[in-house]
Amino acid sequence: MTLIENTQVITVDAERRELSHASVVIDGTRIVSVGDTPDRLPDDTLRADGTGCVLTPGLINTHHHLYQWITRGLAADHTLFQWLTTLYPIWAGIDEDAVRTAALGGLTQLALSGCTTTTDHHYVFPPRGGDLLGAEIDAAATVGLRFHPTRGSMDLSEKDGGLPPDSVVQTLDEILAASSNAVARWHDPSAESMLRIALAPCSPFSVTTDLLRESALLARELGVRMHTHLAESLDENTYCDEHFGCTPLQYMESVGWVGDDVWFAHGIEFDDAEIGRLAATATGVAHCPTSNARLGNRICRTRDLVDAGVPVGLGVDGAASSESCRLLEEAHQAVLMARAKDGPTALTTRTAMELATIGGARVLGRHHDTGSIEVGKLADLVLWDLSTVAHSGIDDPVAALVLGAIPPIAGTWVNGRRIVADGTMLTVDAERVAADVAHEHRRLLAKAG
Ligand code: ZN
Repeated sequence: MTLIENTQVITVDAERRELSHASVVIDGTRIVSVGDTPDRLPDDTLRADGTGCVLTPGLINTHHHLYQWITRGLAADHTLFQWLTTLYPIWAGIDEDAVRTAALGGLTQLALSGCTTTTDHHYVFPPRGGDLLGAEIDAAATVGLRFHPTRGSMDLSEKDGGLPPDSVVQTLDEILAASSNAVARWHDPSAESMLRIALAPCSPFSVTTDLLRESALLARELGVRMHTHLAESLDENTYCDEHFGCTPLQYMESVGWVGDDVWFAHGIEFDDAEIGRLAATATGVAHCPTSNARLGNRICRTRDLVDAGVPVGLGVDGAASSESCRLLEEAHQAVLMARAKDGPTALTTRTAMELATIGGARVLGRHHDTGSIEVGKLADLVLWDLSTVAHSGIDDPVAALVLGAIPPIAGTWVNGRRIVADGTMLTVDAERVAADVAHEHRRLLAKAG
């Protein structure tokens, strides 16, 4: 057992309880007590003193591209389409070592910024790249995060009017076979699952209509979720209007892509009617405010999505979004962007915290298992140290987390296992990971010439 004691607890439970001088007890993978410290605990109980700290549910990241961790800082001032066309030829050289190392870097950064569950959208599979999904799954197991990787795909290359070069796309049959194989090999539907697969064609402008339709049929046959980028930019609206005569969401709905098993990254350019459809179908949105701002896209209608009842989580996105990719920053940015767009009451700090936790859990279909601190839920927890000069004296712990600097992490537990203690990774050597990331970055650029 583990006892986390003498701390403030932001539960994000149904009553949104916030407790002072409280404790949380973990037994195995689950939370067994929240509130007062139980009278009797076994002698060998591990203890973590939360004095000066606040305990929250582990943060949940609903959109990322981990392989991009080794291609940060390139084309940093370009638009999305320019950035993609610059990077695709470099990404064509990725292999298992590159992806494993990139994932170790990105996952370590997430763990050190309070994330306990993350998804990943991997959609670049060069012909001689090897087992790339396996490489990142291996990395997630090493770091110890709960992982929802998606088997991404692209089958519409330059010669067919798409954006990516021919060297990084696959055929429909190759993609469907690899997707089935990934689910059979790795997907664990159990309540305590540390690994669930989803299917994720890349975007309307890099995949065929057939791939979208067939991926939806396959995902539902296999009982896994579906993910893609959607309504990210006005360029994409123009593309869908010219090619399909409709909006991005109308196009996706025509091929089976709405429902409570679907979530879209970004979702900026939805109109009122589309927000209504998302809500009515419980289709989720991964809000990635830093990415949207960095690429000069418009600001997501977060307030309207939340008010309509659309499941909304937060995502760091890949290196297009920032060289940072720390999830708590996205809660901060979500508040700033929403208020810059819609005024001072557009998004509260507590709503931002909900998006980062239970909101993300709902987007990934894990809200019965994780996303809040409640007896019976999985022990995915973060103990933030608010005692340093950056935070001491901030009256409200949620304001300290969402509006303040990212605090040092006193402890992170995933599935009951402690993976961070006093700001240090317990599962990997972070300095070694940093050196390996630099090496793989240089190797990949050298390959691209
Ligand atoms: Zn993305």
